[in-house]
Amino acid sequence: MTDMHSLPALTDRDANPDRDAKADRNTGNTGNAPNPRNAGNANLYALFESRFPEDRSACCIETQEGLYYSWDDLDRATAKIANLLKSLGLPDDSRIAVQVEKSPEALMLYLATIRAGYIFLPLNTGYRAAEIEYFVGNAEPAVVVCSPSNFGWVSQIAFKAGTRHVFTLHEIRNGRNAGSLLERAAHQSDQFSTVKKTADELAAILYTSGTTGRSKGAMLSHGNLASNAIVLQDYWQWQPGDVLLHALPIFHVHGLFVASHGALLNGSKMIFLSKFDNPEVIRQLPRSTVFMGVPTYYVRLLSDPGLDATLCSAMRLFISGSAPMLTETFRDFQTRTGHTILERYGMSETIMLTSNPYDGERIGGTVGFPLPGVSVRIVNADGHPCATGEVGDIQVKGPNVFQGYWRMAEKTAEEFTSDHYFKTGDLGRIDERGYISIVGRSKDLIITGGYNVYPKEIETLLDEIDGVAESAVIGVPHADFGEAVTAVIVPKPGANLTESGIIAQLKLSIANFKIPKRVHFVEDLPRNTMGKVQKNLLRQDFKPT
Ligand code: AMP
Repeated sequence: MTDMHSLPALTDRDANPDRDAKADRNTGNTGNAPNPRNAGNANLYALFESRFPEDRSACCIETQEGLYYSWDDLDRATAKIANLLKSLGLPDDSRIAVQVEKSPEALMLYLATIRAGYIFLPLNTGYRAAEIEYFVGNAEPAVVVCSPSNFGWVSQIAFKAGTRHVFTLHEIRNGRNAGSLLERAAHQSDQFSTVKKTADELAAILYTSGTTGRSKGAMLSHGNLASNAIVLQDYWQWQPGDVLLHALPIFHVHGLFVASHGALLNGSKMIFLSKFDNPEVIRQLPRSTVFMGVPTYYVRLLSDPGLDATLCSAMRLFISGSAPMLTETFRDFQTRTGHTILERYGMSETIMLTSNPYDGERIGGTVGFPLPGVSVRIVNADGHPCATGEVGDIQVKGPNVFQGYWRMAEKTAEEFTSDHYFKTGDLGRIDERGYISIVGRSKDLIITGGYNVYPKEIETLLDEIDGVAESAVIGVPHADFGEAVTAVIVPKPGANLTESGIIAQLKLSIANFKIPKRVHFVEDLPRNTMGKVQKNLLRQDFKPT
């Protein structure tokens, strides 16, 4: 059943008694013939279209409430939204800024935006007025979409910045997603010819998480996104019959691109959770084959006694990234489930750049090898390649690397070398087998009395101490040394740790200049939504007075 008056054209369980049969018939991309209209079109949506399964009534997205959206629903809903955007008469390079809760319709809005040839600009749902004011002022979007509850203040900011159209999305009415965007789109045609784009035209702008300084808009082209998705489909061996359990937010590279694109390109069903929720993930794991998460998700799953090998017996692949995974988590997960997590490394500016292998050995604490077609090198302060095992700056070149920072030509120029490598800002090393490990951010590097201290080295040692759940090492201003190494530790429940005990243990294995001058104990480390420890907050909290 299709409801033409409310968008998207969704069909629910009751209306589809044969839903499960259809869902399971979705056996993944079988090489559907490309739509001749799309020949020579580098629009990312055209690539997805060419990979839709032959049976378009198969399930593309299923929600935890049991709603299901077929590939046909996806195609028609994105056509309606694309037609609505086109009807606004926007300039070709218009930005569509979106701050809404995760839902299938929000994903469709993303797809409709690129299908219509505009530039998608997702915004973290946690951003408050001052942050939105900055992003909207900087990006000057033609359209802003927000949740109905934020309409008052968001529309004020948007109109002040010159945005003419503000829509709302995500107000559940009668179990369906509504808001002015879908209401307006419902009256549009469900046919739309995907707009022709070249590979280097922009598809999205992702503002970096910006733990230091102002956030920058990383401009990604259709070609950046398509090339990375194609490489990952092959590298992670997406298979017919794969089902993606999608629990990540969709305002970030991990959930929006890596996860969604993988399933879309493979013609695979996604079980689309509105957020990560332990019991729900545990409930859905037996019906899934691929799961992607940030390390925190794995820590939380391990805290659930229900997680075991039987629960994960249908699973093919667990992937982790966006923040460093503790080797303890990697090992515990292996012991509990029999699955070896595949860790990969990426960022807003480059999408994915390295990955542990699918078939070869996946080594915890490393991020594996450069992806095919991507050149990664590690250089010292003089720009010369580092020797095996030596720590240096990670630089990258390839079809995945972004087009520059939005309206920051100077900043962009600073971040590229003369031979066009992008300076990631991450510090790492390559071992003799070619596996890359990330040691920290160059901005996190602590320089104490002229010596370089890599926080990751100390954190790894701290995490191995009995009773330490996790740790973060920061530099704080120090009159004598410039910076003083400072450790912040989360003890395990019931652990009896002391500052002097920790320092004594570290002294057994590392040079004195690396030993923290102070050790602080806290209940939790502050993290952003992607699981990254917010060291800027720790630096503030533990700044000497
Ligand atoms: P974002 O642009 O928000 O995705 O942040 C990218 C940054 O996250 C990278 O520059 C790394 O510092 C960090 N990162 C991503 N993946 C990993 C990983 N597997 N291990 C350690 N750090 C990671």
